[in-house]
Amino acid sequence: MTATPSFVREPGGEVPVAAVSDLVVVGGGPAGISAAIAGARNGLSVTLLERYPYLGGLASGGMVLVLDDMCNGQEIAVRGICSELIARLETLGLAVTPPESDRRSDPAMWRKWSRWGVFDFTSHMKPQPIVYAAAFDPDGFKRVANHMVAEAKIDLRLHSWFSRTLVEDGAAKGVIVESKEGRQAILGKIVVDATGDLDVAASGGAPFIEGAYIVTTVFRLGNVDIAEAERFEYAEPEAFKTIDREAKRIIGGSWDKWWLKTPLPGVVWCNCPHMANYDGLKVADLTRADFEGRRRIANLLEHLHAKMPGFRDCYVVDVAPQLGIRQTRLLDGVYVVTKEDVTERRHFADSVARGRDYYTPYRSMLPRNVANLIVAGRHYSATASAQKMSREIPPCMAMGEAAGVASALALEQGRHLDAIDVGVLQRRLRAQGADPGDVPAANASVVRAAE
Ligand SMILES: Cc1cc2nc3c(=O)[nH]c(=O)nc-3n(C[C@H](O)[C@H](O)[C@H](O)COP(=O)(O)OP(=O)(O)OC[C@H]3O[C@@H](n4cnc5c(N)ncnc54)[C@H](O)[C@@H]3O)c2cc1C
Repeated sequence: MTATPSFVREPGGEVPVAAVSDLVVVGGGPAGISAAIAGARNGLSVTLLERYPYLGGLASGGMVLVLDDMCNGQEIAVRGICSELIARLETLGLAVTPPESDRRSDPAMWRKWSRWGVFDFTSHMKPQPIVYAAAFDPDGFKRVANHMVAEAKIDLRLHSWFSRTLVEDGAAKGVIVESKEGRQAILGKIVVDATGDLDVAASGGAPFIEGAYIVTTVFRLGNVDIAEAERFEYAEPEAFKTIDREAKRIIGGSWDKWWLKTPLPGVVWCNCPHMANYDGLKVADLTRADFEGRRRIANLLEHLHAKMPGFRDCYVVDVAPQLGIRQTRLLDGVYVVTKEDVTERRHFADSVARGRDYYTPYRSMLPRNVANLIVAGRHYSATASAQKMSREIPPCMAMGEAAGVASALALEQGRHLDAIDVGVLQRRLRAQGADPGDVPAANASVVRAAE
């Protein structure tokens, strides 16, 4: 009897070149879309690769439906392409933001807005302040992203799974993708890794750390009588608490407000169930998580039908096509952002993007040992604990925008990415409507110069 082999040998051979561009962006999530648009607007030919049949990543396919973490008090810290996207969604009636006059800590505002998820989740105030954030529709996100990418004349290739990074003499030259057409090579002068899982940089030999965090099977419920649900919550708080506590026990992992409103009438999104001990890179874990998430959702539905006013006739509209993966590989880059950098609001002279009150140094987007490669998004160079508090959609979009403009500058200046003039990058980002965080806010601690 022959033993089952551990490996098989693949035949080598030639792979057809399907596209050649200045910039190849891998991953069509929030960071990748922004990188591609920024690169194209700054004169580059851009190919954007995405494995799924739509743009948006976790924002659309993961149904993560609030653009948040973008305010430092009353100041809006993330602008640029993210603001454009929100404005377009609002025009379509597919995003809801609280007006400035409602943005404060106030029980009446809490009642009006907290079920939209537009509050400062990091604040210790009671109630937590209502802040600028946008509750949006996932299909709206896909539509708007399509428009913006088409307007920028980006060569978008959906249904294309990244498989390998092409590296020659320590520099990225492009990538291999798998699709219905087989293996294809996509060549570029600069490659942006926006896969969220660092697939491209890891394949290219860049060092990384292995992070992990809870995963979530996000879903939406329809036919919810939201007015009745809210009436019950505020008019009968003790009865509400009992039924809500039981709902959370059945879910087995959720934030306090496990359902939030969406721009669609009668439709709520549920950022739960959260589940621990799943590896977002392992096929068996991803499969198990889908079964476990759906099992918990079905059990919750029974409870809601039986007990929860407002939810008696609700049904599952959809379970997010993508499992909610928050953290896997993280780049171990030229600079590694620490938890203290985030919590102490440390300003960096080479800041090129911001979150609420923290700053992202350009160096944390650069691998140490692969040229012509830059990363943007949730897999940027940070410790696992720092990433947990600095990975929301708007800051990832800001990083993407910086990556696109940095790539254009590198090609204009004929320099490697790590040798561009960061001051020029910051000024150009600001001139184009972004906030690179070059000017520290009044509450920043200015302790570290770019090394
Ligand atoms: C359950 C959950 C709730 C969250 N809640 C919020 C929230 O309320 N507000 C908020 O702002 N943020 C929230 N976040 C965080 C936020 O969604 C992510 O951090 C953000 O989407 C990261 O953007 P990204 O572009 O870096 O990565 P992603 O959104 O993961 O996008 C990566 C893209 O790359 C593509 N890709 C990956 N691998 C390949 C490959 N091999 N080939 C081709 N394409 C590939 C993916 O399909 C995807 O489109 C939440 C996250 C989760 C999981």
